Amino acid sequence: IEQTAYQNDSLAMLGKLSASIAHEIRNPLTAIRGFIQLLRPHLQQLGKEEYAKIILAEIDRANDIIHEFLNSSKPSVPQVGAIPVSALLKEIVLLTESEALMKGCQINLHPLQSEMIISVDVKQLKQVVLNMIRNAMEAIAEKADNDMGKIEVGARREGAEVRIYISDNGKGMDACTLDRLFNPFFTTKENGTGLGLSVSDRIIKDHGGCISVSSRINEGTRFVISLPLTH
Ligand code: ADP
Ligand code: MG
Repeated sequence: IEQTAYQNDSLAMLGKLSASIAHEIRNPLTAIRGFIQLLRPHLQQLGKEEYAKIILAEIDRANDIIHEFLNSSKPSVPQVGAIPVSALLKEIVLLTESEALMKGCQINLHPLQSEMIISVDVKQLKQVVLNMIRNAMEAIAEKADNDMGKIEVGARREGAEVRIYISDNGKGMDACTLDRLFNPFFTTKENGTGLGLSVSDRIIKDHGGCISVSSRINEGTRFVISLPLTH
């Protein structure tokens, strides 16, 4: 118990430090962005407008990375509370349903066999499941033969644990991607940050759980989050 307390403490410190560094980097980036935009007409006269475009796109990419990083380190002290798994999943599915419909996919929330209570930082856990649902939508959008995209969300009890699953019939992953998907900054997307799953992995481990994944190319992917149940 002592070691866990110590670990949480240094994690919280690291979170605070990261958040303030990220803020400090954001300010100069905003200044650079503004001045490049002022220079744009001059670059255009020189026939070098594409330089401005590249600089702006790269600044936006850096901002995206910081944004995702800030989101992950913000609640520097985890706000742990007990919540029924069904309520948590309902809320998240509600949040993503319209986005999914617009992208031509359907989200099914399976009714739970029994109620289960977990003690988690609700904000952090929502972030994890949301990122997995967004990844699922993106995998469906990237699949070539685009019939009806489907995302299945649910949970079941397994001994003293709950297994929350998110599966999709999207483009799936090859062995090489499966090997690296939890690495920070690993992404196969043009506008991806590659931070979603590495941050999720850390959050779930902080909660004493783990994430597993199985996937088949062109068939789909299934993520399973295992978490200890509250007694
Ligand atoms: P990002 O979404 O910014 O790329 P993530 O850490 O969320 O970063 O995901 C890392 C990579 O894992 C993705 O770029 C993608 O290649 C792969 N991936 C994650 N989820 C899925 C999924 N449901 N189906 C197919 N590939 C996935
Ligand atoms: Mg992602």
